[in-house]
Amino acid sequence: MKILALSLDQLTHLLETNYGKSRFHAQALYREIFKNANLKFLFVPEFAASQALARDLKKNICLEPGRIKKVFQDKDLTKFITRLSDGMDIESVIVPMNRYNTLCVSSQVGCRMGCAFCETGCMGLKRNLTVSEITGQLYNARHVLKKQIKNIVFMGMGEPFDNFEPVMAAVKIMNEQKGFDIALRHMTISTAGVVPGIRKLAAMNLAGIRLAISVNAPDNQTRSKLMPVNNAWSLETLKETLADFPLPRKGTFLFEYILIKGMNDSDAHADRLAEFIHPLPVRLNLIPCNPVPGLAHESPSDEEMNRFSQKLVEKNIFVIRRWSKGRSLSAGCGQLGRQ
Ligand code: SF4
Repeated sequence: MKILALSLDQLTHLLETNYGKSRFHAQALYREIFKNANLKFLFVPEFAASQALARDLKKNICLEPGRIKKVFQDKDLTKFITRLSDGMDIESVIVPMNRYNTLCVSSQVGCRMGCAFCETGCMGLKRNLTVSEITGQLYNARHVLKKQIKNIVFMGMGEPFDNFEPVMAAVKIMNEQKGFDIALRHMTISTAGVVPGIRKLAAMNLAGIRLAISVNAPDNQTRSKLMPVNNAWSLETLKETLADFPLPRKGTFLFEYILIKGMNDSDAHADRLAEFIHPLPVRLNLIPCNPVPGLAHESPSDEEMNRFSQKLVEKNIFVIRRWSKGRSLSAGCGQLGRQ
C-alpha cells in the first residue's frame, strides 16, 4: 500500500474493503504517518483494540518518499536532491519566508517546455513524477529535514500541467486536514501557459488555490523565442483563458516576468506588458534572470530593473520586485537541474 499516493478517501476505501474498518482508522493512520511520521501505530489509541490489524498494516504499508541524496544550505535557504527508485534525481527548494517556509516542489524529471532561460528545460523531459514522488518531497522536507512548511509552490523541475492528474492528486493529499494540512490558499501552481491545464483547473473549482503564470514577454514574437509553448497557446489565448478563470473574491493571478537584458526589458516592453495585464487582477513578480551555464542571457542592472518596475507601477500594476533567492545554490528560478 503506497501510502503517500493515497487520499484519505482512497485509504478509507482500502481499509473498508480489505479489513472491514472505517474512516475512524483511516484518519488515525493518516494522522500518524503524514503528521507525526509515526509508523508504529500499535501504540496509538485507535488501534489499541486492533493490534493484529496494526501489525498487518505495518507490514503492508510502503512509505517511499525517496532518499535524500544531498542537501545544500545557504543561510536559511535549503536545496535538496532526492534520488528516486529508478536512480533519477529531482530537486526541491525550501525558501524561508517571514515566519514559515515555502517548499518549491518538482513535478517532473526535466521538462519538455524548452524555455530558453531554463536549465531544467535544457534537460528535456525524462519522465513524469508519480503522486508519491511529489508528496514525498513534502514528507522529506517536514519529517527528515525537520522544516516547518506552510506553503507549497509547484515551481521546481517540470511543467505541472504536463503531469496534471498526479499533480492534482498530490494537491488533494497535501491539503488533507488530518494529514499534511496545507491550505489550498497556501498552494500555488505555476505554469508556462499550458492553456488546457488552466481550463481543467478552472473546471475543478478548487477554491483558493493560486495560479501563477510565467509570462516573460508581452508580445508573441519575443515570447515564442523565449518560450516555445507560446507557439501552441498565444498571449491572446492565454489572456482569454485567464479572464474565464474562477478567481475567488479579491483573488489575483501571480505573473512571473524574468527580466533578460536586451530581450524583454525595454520601456516599450513595460508598456506592452501593462496593456497585456489590464484588466486582469495581477500581482507581478519581477525577477532578474539567473545565470545558467551555456545560456547567454544576462540580467539587467538594478537601475534598469528599477526603471522597468517604475514604468509598470505608474500604470497601476502591483509589482513585487524579487531578489533572486537561491542564486548561490543554483536554486533560483530556471536553475534547477544542475547539482
Ligand atoms: S521554466 Fe518551467 S516550464 Fe519552462 S522549461 Fe523550465 S521548468 Fe519547464
